[in-house]
Amino acid sequence: MKLARTVEAVRQAVRDARDGGARHVGLVPTMGALHRGHYSLIDAAGRGCDFVVVSIFVNPTQFGPGEDYQEYPRSWQADCAGCESRGVDVLFAPSVEEMYPEGFATTVHVAGLTEGLCGRSRPGHFDGVCTIVSKLFNAVGPDVAFFGAKDYQQAVVVRRMVADLNMPVRIELCPTVREADGLALSSRNQRLSPAERAQAPALFESLRLARELVAGGQRAAAEVVAEIRACLERRAPLGRIDYVEIVHPDTLRAVEEIDGAVLVAVAVRFASARLIDNMLVDPSAPAD
Ligand code: AMP
Repeated sequence: MKLARTVEAVRQAVRDARDGGARHVGLVPTMGALHRGHYSLIDAAGRGCDFVVVSIFVNPTQFGPGEDYQEYPRSWQADCAGCESRGVDVLFAPSVEEMYPEGFATTVHVAGLTEGLCGRSRPGHFDGVCTIVSKLFNAVGPDVAFFGAKDYQQAVVVRRMVADLNMPVRIELCPTVREADGLALSSRNQRLSPAERAQAPALFESLRLARELVAGGQRAAAEVVAEIRACLERRAPLGRIDYVEIVHPDTLRAVEEIDGAVLVAVAVRFASARLIDNMLVDPSAPAD
């Protein structure tokens, strides 16, 4: 595995790979502290591509003031070993100065889709995401980029950006990887206190409850939202609900009547970490 610290180095590595016959270059953008969720994306890239680049960059511009940029978990040695053992070809780990040199002045903004859900409580977050993802796409030039469904809004926003700006890359969405108790894997989970960790599976439980309610015939989104809130308040009293929303999976606009597939999305703020989760719920799907 090659380690690239600069845009020029990663560009050269991909150029060499293409000269050597690589036809499908895959990129997995991450902020490190890699877990099985990230590795599922890396494995998907390995299956679908003949050259895999993983980027590790804790992107300061997607953290708001007072958010956890400084405390964001970092585990460089383990991440390197994990990527190496999975056959990653290039690990791209630039410095902040490499990505945002003196005089940097450009922001990529996707309107509309970024206003609700996480965008409401994290103003500017998706501008930071879109700007860094654009830069990573320009540096690496991947054919396919792999994103996780845990950050569903992020994937929808990136897809919009790619279409609007004619970026020649396909966005692949991979399923959320969970702990045995349903908690979606997240680098931030390691910051939860034992008591918070015990309550954190409530997010997934509340989503399962939503699915059951819809399977049982409930079609009023407001009723489902109220049940989810009650479940979260009961099962995760240490958390403060940031949002519970039922939206159209493409437009991310709030839905009142559930008459097709919807995205049910929740965010809960614990003292040590803010957690998000979501589930696609389709009223025409059989209950399990
Ligand atoms: P992050 O390092 O948190 O920025 O995440 C990098 C990528 O991994 C994003 O596309 C995330 O959606 C994805 N990811 C994070 N957690 C999970 C998970 N539990 N399952 C699947 N993908 C995930």
